Amino acid sequence: MSRPAPLAILAQRAAERQKRHLTRRLVCMGPAGGRWVTVDGRRCLLLASNDYLGLSNHPRLAQAARQAAQASGTGAGASRLVCGTLDWHLRLEQRIAQFKQTQAALFFPTGYMANLGVIATLAGPGDLIVSDQLNHASLIDACRLSRSQVRIYPHGEVQTAEEMLAQGPAQGLKLLVSDGVFSMDGDLAPLPALLAAAQRQQALLVIDDAHGTGVWGQRGRGSLEHFGLEPTPEVVIIGTFSKALGGLGGFVAGAAEVIQGLVNGARAFIYSTAPPPAQAAVALAALELVDAEPQRRQKLHRLCALLRGLLAEHGFGLLSQAGPIIPILAGPANKALALARALLERGVFAPAIRPPTVPPGSSRLRLAVSAAHEEEDMHLAARALAAAAAEVGL
Ligand SMILES: *Cc1c(COP(=O)(O)O)cnc(C)c1O
Repeated sequence: MSRPAPLAILAQRAAERQKRHLTRRLVCMGPAGGRWVTVDGRRCLLLASNDYLGLSNHPRLAQAARQAAQASGTGAGASRLVCGTLDWHLRLEQRIAQFKQTQAALFFPTGYMANLGVIATLAGPGDLIVSDQLNHASLIDACRLSRSQVRIYPHGEVQTAEEMLAQGPAQGLKLLVSDGVFSMDGDLAPLPALLAAAQRQQALLVIDDAHGTGVWGQRGRGSLEHFGLEPTPEVVIIGTFSKALGGLGGFVAGAAEVIQGLVNGARAFIYSTAPPPAQAAVALAALELVDAEPQRRQKLHRLCALLRGLLAEHGFGLLSQAGPIIPILAGPANKALALARALLERGVFAPAIRPPTVPPGSSRLRLAVSAAHEEEDMHLAARALAAAAAEVGL
């Protein structure tokens, strides 16, 4: 029997994807972040960016990038352990540790790499990872990469998680892993209960606060601060500069033993070139802005409450109670696509989120509010969404 040609196999897979309404395509838009974007030549309200504080267009950050590139060049030239460690990286790491109230911190090129680095270095064969069902894809990939035993607990069910930890190996490390704020549902993890369970079971608690940092807590320290918790040495926090902080880069903050272990063992850290000075400089400046401009965070939460209230008036059921991530469930993938299209026709951009990013049957629009928005935008968005939902029969 003749084998199909390689590209014919790929074309067959693409046709399968198309049939299930799961094809994705790249849509060119600009500028990044902010309030308005141009999508396919048309100006729309952007309601999908993770630029929660509107920092990606902040003149201070552009200035920090320019100055660092001019003073220190555009490339670090090597990995951190060879000759890529610059003053910028060390200052940033000190600042992250101070910001997150941990002993130490380590900067990574992206949050994805930070997750791969931390999970796959801390845990290996003979260890146990207990992980929330809705954790981010980078945590899932990291768990697989670690070759540990991995057990998944139903979303937010701390008691089940604790039972899984209790049944873990007598020797070996136990990790309890959760998003701090769930990226597609927008809800917070039950951190006080997770922390207590981790302590009782002598597990490290690993919290991915990609969507918490800068947004949650009185001072924007993240989801732990929101609950009034301080990190113990057995808590490891992961974060990113790519969302509320308006730049790019990941970090791990935790005990000195954890950070030392990563410097010596994290392959995503060791075998990748150090981030360029400008990337670290932008991150440093963004952390300063979280403190210097608290009004951005306050405005963000005011706008979130406003939009949530307006959506509730229009009869939308919401998955999360507060914060900038507001999912509108559509169900089947084609329904979510139709809703996104109808919304775009009304001048609002929020793309359909489909499997495998979310579980099958729970395709949705994921609205994301930013401090770059104004009150009138929330009214426009709610009206447009109500009309779009009516048009597609939702
Ligand atoms: C976006 C995201 C990441 C990845 O961060 P990047 O810096 O964009 O690579 C990790 N975890 C969660 C929960 C995220 O939402």
